[in-house]
Amino acid sequence: MRFEYAPAPESRSVVTLRDSYGLFIGGQFVSGSSVFKTISPATEEVLAEVTQAGPEDVDRAVAAARHAYERTWSVMGGRERGKYLFRIARLIQERSRELAVLETLDNGKPIRESRDVDIPLAAAHFFYHAGWADKLSYAGFGPSPRPLGVAGQVIPWNFPLLMLAWKIAPALACGNTVVLKPAETTPLTALLFAEICQQAELPPGVVNIVTGDGATGHALVAHPGIDKVAFTGSTEVGKEIARICAVSGQRVTLELGGKAANIVFDDAPLDQAVEGIINGIFFNQGHVCCAGSRLLVQESVADELLTALKRRMERLRLGDPLDKNTDVGAVNSQAQLERIEAFAATGAEEGAERWSARCPLPDRGFWFPPTVFTGVSQAHRIAQEEIFGPVLSVLTFRTPDEAIVKANNTPYGLSAGVWSEKGSLILSMASRLRAGVVWANTFNRFDPASPFGGYKESGFGREGGRHGLEAYLDIHGTSVLGGSDV
Ligand code: NAD
Repeated sequence: MRFEYAPAPESRSVVTLRDSYGLFIGGQFVSGSSVFKTISPATEEVLAEVTQAGPEDVDRAVAAARHAYERTWSVMGGRERGKYLFRIARLIQERSRELAVLETLDNGKPIRESRDVDIPLAAAHFFYHAGWADKLSYAGFGPSPRPLGVAGQVIPWNFPLLMLAWKIAPALACGNTVVLKPAETTPLTALLFAEICQQAELPPGVVNIVTGDGATGHALVAHPGIDKVAFTGSTEVGKEIARICAVSGQRVTLELGGKAANIVFDDAPLDQAVEGIINGIFFNQGHVCCAGSRLLVQESVADELLTALKRRMERLRLGDPLDKNTDVGAVNSQAQLERIEAFAATGAEEGAERWSARCPLPDRGFWFPPTVFTGVSQAHRIAQEEIFGPVLSVLTFRTPDEAIVKANNTPYGLSAGVWSEKGSLILSMASRLRAGVVWANTFNRFDPASPFGGYKESGFGREGGRHGLEAYLDIHGTSVLGGSDV
């Protein structure tokens, strides 16, 4: 039986969009060199005009961060820093509806996800790191770990506010100041976060937000005034940044792409596995670095599982991201849609069989239906390269050894999932998978206390948990600036 849902749109009235946004430097919104527009990917409506920061704007932001680092933040006790982080966390909670609606407007993701995942997790990251700010001496990095200085941080468009929280919360907790650049297609929640910093009375210059495209990102990571670079984005740009930092000697962490295997054994609870596969690849339109984009299913249950999966996919509701019943929202940009379409065409050309859910696509905006490719071989590009969209490649295996070989056979190593009733099998698989995160009988679960990061071309360094603090601390005693850590 099929249920029809009445529309249940979340109101936009909670968000006040300005016509034009400046850069957030030294605690103030200031104008910059030029402007560009940010649109809603679901409707192509222009939402606002945003400033493109040039090299001189980046200079100003780095100078403001340096000033705040030397005069205020690095000499402030950890307990005081923690109070600001707690205040920011509470303000994110208080303004969560506004942030969720703005995120959905600018990114195209379903309101259910921004409301229930992105924004609560962003607040949780600030709460978690607020707790660390006065306990760094007990974090296992020696008696008096010091901050590094000014962090230059560049983030992608798939989880705009959440990626900001992953970057800013640990940096501030450890006593660093930051200049952050959000992605050019999703700058608005970072700019609202800047207002939250003002509301929290964060000392000017501790957080600076510069908007712009890759050129702004380049100016930031190559700036000689930056002590630490933190980048989340594509492997291609990550490699370029690694080269820059190898020459400059700046500390760097890279969170890059992925091509995760979601491995289903024949003893797994298949209904539960179907939900995990759906969540693994169609959550956030598949714009997830750790998405379970390769399904590895044991041959004996492949037909049964695929039938159930397709039945479930037919029930996914694609459409208005602000509707509370929507499961699959809009692809973030025209460029990303073209990339997904090109990969889908390649999959068919290489001989894999395409099946897409029969859901009507809206006339305006950027949309791609949930899609599965079967008959995929390891050599196919859709089995090797990151598509970053709602496209699942299905491969089969007979033994655990074969599953391991296939799962590890990509340039990436960010995440993996294992579905089985046998605890011993799960543990042995987890120890042999080259992935930073392995989920057991679940997928795409996140917690600020749990470190996240990759192997191989998925990058290096960890974000979250005690391990994530290390990226923002001088644990070898070579940094000379900085006052008390607690
Ligand atoms: P992207 O690399 O094109 O852009 C990411 C950010 O880098 C943007 O802010 C962009 O403006 C900036 N940028 C672009 N060129 C730059 C340059 N030359 N120098 C400095 N900055 C530059 O990636 P994207 O398409 O926005 O994001 C998708 C990618 O991000 C995917 O590959 C995804 O897997 C990855 N990602 C990884 C993680 C993780 O934690 N490992 C999390 C989310 C996304």
